[in-house]
Amino acid sequence: MAQTTNDAFDIVIAGAGYVGLATAVSIKAARTNLSVLVVDAAPEGIWQRDTRASAIAAAATRMLDQLGCWAEIAPGAQAMTEMVVTDSRTSDPVRPVFLTFDGEVGPGEAFAHMVANKDLNGALRRKADELGVEIREGLGVTGFEQLSAATRVTFADGSSVEAKLLVAADGVKSRLRDMAGIKTVHWDYGQSGIVCTVHHERPHNGRAEEHFLPAGPFATLPLAPDADGNNRSSIVWTERTRDADRLVASDIIVFEHELEQRFGLQLGEIRVEGKPRAWPLGLTLARDFVKPRFALVGDAAHGIHPIAGQGLNLGFKDAAALAETIVDADRLGQDIGTLDILERYERWRRFDTVQMGVTTDVLNRLFSNDVAPVRAVRDIGLGLVERMPRLKEFFIRQASGLSPTSPRLLRGEAI
Ligand SMILES: Cc1cc2nc3c(=O)[nH]c(=O)nc-3n(C[C@H](O)[C@H](O)[C@H](O)COP(=O)(O)OP(=O)(O)OC[C@H]3O[C@@H](n4cnc5c(N)ncnc54)[C@H](O)[C@@H]3O)c2cc1C
Repeated sequence: MAQTTNDAFDIVIAGAGYVGLATAVSIKAARTNLSVLVVDAAPEGIWQRDTRASAIAAAATRMLDQLGCWAEIAPGAQAMTEMVVTDSRTSDPVRPVFLTFDGEVGPGEAFAHMVANKDLNGALRRKADELGVEIREGLGVTGFEQLSAATRVTFADGSSVEAKLLVAADGVKSRLRDMAGIKTVHWDYGQSGIVCTVHHERPHNGRAEEHFLPAGPFATLPLAPDADGNNRSSIVWTERTRDADRLVASDIIVFEHELEQRFGLQLGEIRVEGKPRAWPLGLTLARDFVKPRFALVGDAAHGIHPIAGQGLNLGFKDAAALAETIVDADRLGQDIGTLDILERYERWRRFDTVQMGVTTDVLNRLFSNDVAPVRAVRDIGLGLVERMPRLKEFFIRQASGLSPTSPRLLRGEAI
């Protein structure tokens, strides 16, 4: 399909979040002949106001490097050199350490990095532009219909384009998934994740901590110092939703006091930067990932608990797997939108996604409570892992996202 008329594209991607953009860049970097349009419903430039950060695994870093984006992100990224897990109550004066991870997955390669969301989005956008991906902001997809050899995609301003393939990367509440008639398995955890950035007196030295408290996990994730040299960490703090809403609405002095109870004073005095926000948490798994001329990627396919910081990493794997499937098919001269091609992508991603969804669900249920026998069993479990180096190594490799069945981009190879 030619790009000359501007109303016909090979691929239309709904959603210019990290996953939509990573999908566009991955495809276009390998097949410049394919025309790609990315649209996003959000107002132009709003992504620049995201002050959050995300943990990205080593495999995602390799992918970003292969796509030519990592060099731009790296100066503001913080390598995670150590991860400590404790199981305790907020009131416990000393938190026994049950599990520690440290080291690298390869020489000089950390198992994860913390990156600023806007750096990630900005680098992917610039690369997409450079490769000739067309991005239209403030333009939501409002409908689509199947034609004989294409899909007609309609936008909020009434305009429409034809595409061989429509990719829905429109987040966990995906409207496109609903429009395609794809059902989900979904439940709410009754928990929300409070996210904020804190400044602290002493350096974190790349150490991340996750404390399993009765209301849910409390994670402190190391950030690179800001322009003024302040030591900073990102907090992902799970609470029951009503408590989380109360906390983020409270006076900052009250919030900082509550935060201090959990963060501790080992890094000295703390100060919250900006306004904390809370996100309701749930598990959402799409029953199908594809339909003819339609594919789901990222949170539109799966929304999981942030307990293991893996949501975005799963999305990068989707982007890499879908891109590899499409590029391979296009190289063979096949129609990239047909169901048998798209089902290859679904088979590739489905098991991993369900496995991660179930793992995060079980971890959350196991740890977000204070029942004494459950505490005893999980502490024995954590203690066992700590004493078995090969098992620990397995967990580190799982967390890093590196596996022989990963898509080529995640292994750092071009498609
Ligand atoms: C508290 C919390 C902490 C987290 N921490 C981590 C972490 O440390 N590491 C990690 O890997 N993951 C983390 N995650 C998960 C991660 O944030 C998500 O997995 C990730 O943002 C999903 O990206 P996405 O591109 O699929 O969707 P989104 O980022 O939700 O993007 C969807 C885009 O689609 C657009 N859109 C919506 N509707 C339409 C439409 N009709 N037409 C066109 N565009 C549309 C939206 O404007 C948006 O830009 C966390 C999640 C939470 C809640």
